[in-house]
Amino acid sequence: GKPVFLAGIVFDITDRKEKQKQLEQDNIVLLEKTRKDEMTGIQNHRAVVEFLNDQMAISIQTKQPLSVAMIDIDDFKKVNDQYGHVVGDEVLRQTAQIIADSVRETDLVGRYGGEEYLVVFSQTKKRDAEKVLSRILSKIREFQYEQGFCVTVSAGISQYNNETLSEFVARADKCMYEAKKAGKDRIFFD
Ligand code: GH3
Ligand code: MG
Ligand code: MG
Repeated sequence: GKPVFLAGIVFDITDRKEKQKQLEQDNIVLLEKTRKDEMTGIQNHRAVVEFLNDQMAISIQTKQPLSVAMIDIDDFKKVNDQYGHVVGDEVLRQTAQIIADSVRETDLVGRYGGEEYLVVFSQTKKRDAEKVLSRILSKIREFQYEQGFCVTVSAGISQYNNETLSEFVARADKCMYEAKKAGKDRIFFD
C-alpha cells in the first residue's frame, strides 16, 4: 500500500500571466485613447456625450439638478487667419486647460466640436453653473498669449428638464448663439 514513487509535471505559466497582464494594461490605454481628444488632452465628443447621458439618468432618479454649458471661442477664425493654425491650435489647448482646471472633479469638460467645448455640471443648478462660467470667462479673457493677443468666449447654459439629450444640448447651444448676438464674451441661459 506504500507509493513507490511520485511523478508530476510542473507548468511555468509566468510568461502567460505576464502577457495577459500586459494585454489588460494595453486595453485600458486603448480605451482611454478612444475617449480623449488628441489635440487638447481633454475628453472628446463621444466621452462627454456618454457622461451626459449617464448624468441625465442619475438626475431623473435622484431628482438632483443637472446643467450643461456650451462654450465657443469668439472670432476664432481671425486667430487662425492672423497668427496661423499652429497658434490657433495652441489657443484651443490653453482654453481647454483653463476650463478643465476650473470645474469640479465631478463635472466633465469635453471638446464638442472645432472650437466648442461642452461642460457637464453634475448636481448643479444653472445659477451655480453660471458662477463657475463667469470665472472661466474672466480667466480666458485675461490670459495673454506670447504674441500679445487675448481671446474671449461666449457661453450658453441650460438646466435639465427631463427632455432628450439633443434637446437639452440644443437649448444651451441656442443660448450661446444669443450671447454671440448680444456682443460675445458673455453668458446666457434660459
Ligand atoms: P464666432 O465668434 O461667431 O464664433 O466666430 P468664429 O470665427 O469663432 O467662428 P467660425 O465658426 O466662423 O470659425 C471657427 C473656426 O474654427 C473655423 C475653423 O477653421 C477653426 N477651427 C476648427 N477646428 C480647428 C482646429 O482644430 N484647429 C484650428 N487651428 N482651427 C480650428
Ligand atoms: Mg463654433
Ligand atoms: Mg467661434
